[in-house]
Amino acid sequence: MSLTILTRKEVIKDIKDRGGSVAAVLPIHYPRALLRTFDIYPIEVWGPPKVDVSLGGAHLQAYVCSIVHNALSFLKKGGLDVADLVLIPHTCDSLQGLASILMDLIQPKQTIIPLYLPRDKREEDVVFLTEELRSLATRFSDQTGKHPSNEDFLAAIKREERSDLLLAKLYQTRQKTGLGNLDFYRLLRSREYLPAEDFSKLAEETLKTTSEPRPGIPVIISGILPEPMEVLSMIDEMNGQVVADDLACCGRRLYKPGTSTDPFRRMAESILTAPPDPTRGNSIAERIEYLTEMAQNSGAKGIIFYEVKFCEPELFDLPNLRAGLKEKGLASIIIEVDISNPLPRQVATRIGAFLEMLTSHPKDTSCGA
Ligand code: SF4
Repeated sequence: MSLTILTRKEVIKDIKDRGGSVAAVLPIHYPRALLRTFDIYPIEVWGPPKVDVSLGGAHLQAYVCSIVHNALSFLKKGGLDVADLVLIPHTCDSLQGLASILMDLIQPKQTIIPLYLPRDKREEDVVFLTEELRSLATRFSDQTGKHPSNEDFLAAIKREERSDLLLAKLYQTRQKTGLGNLDFYRLLRSREYLPAEDFSKLAEETLKTTSEPRPGIPVIISGILPEPMEVLSMIDEMNGQVVADDLACCGRRLYKPGTSTDPFRRMAESILTAPPDPTRGNSIAERIEYLTEMAQNSGAKGIIFYEVKFCEPELFDLPNLRAGLKEKGLASIIIEVDISNPLPRQVATRIGAFLEMLTSHPKDTSCGA
């Protein structure tokens, strides 16, 4: 099947034509429904890739990741001028640093709003996040003059929950969609900027298709994001099949619905149902258990850790995480990339060798140091 997916630019134009506001949202977790209740449409900014980073480089150390370098450069070049506000979740030190630079030094025309997230999912974490979301709503009320009712919030929440449910269904039936790795992830990642109702329509269309499962060596991809996205077609070409993922932009945001009738608590509950994520302080033991189960359920033979260079939360976990997975019989490889650069040829060689090792020595977990 062929997919027609609107681009970010087309979606933004449509929002602006309808009089909506745009929030540029940095990674990873945030309350989509809360923004939509105020007619603010979240458009996520994961870099973007392949940006001239010289403008951001003047404010950042060379060892800050390319997501932050690119985002700052993009903003300074005017790439975020369409945004009415920039929401920066406190995902990691680098994003917290970006928020400080923007608020204290650069002071762009857009309002910069930080969002603090708890590092666990205990009752006190739910309460903390509930109050954080309530105060975010108060801030939006002050800015927009709108005072939505609980029913307004709950309607937006249910619309997002429906999209999340369809996203989960796409994951469950990915092998039957007939889509290659690249097209499947183009579809999943359109959730980063399509309004929920449009994403739901697209997902429902895709779910109507039933194809034979695609052949290929089954692998999991883990990391922050699959950029440059050519890596996915490269895996296709080398007869690899991504059967599951542990990506911050995709599988780590498979939220379950909340249960509370209080909209703010319900949004907090939902965000905290997300799978284990190193940026939210989940233990390595939890991640080993989660990834082992993911491999068992999907039939994956190995894991490609596809990492953004200098991403501390990801890279700190890898030595112990990989050692634990190796004990469970799961081979893995680490590929590090700078999303501003084209994909190095060496990546193809390494992924090719890893896939070959998985087929010729499926029990060998020593590959890819
Ligand atoms: S790539 Fe890593 S360090 Fe960079 S913003 Fe994302 S989580 Fe933070």
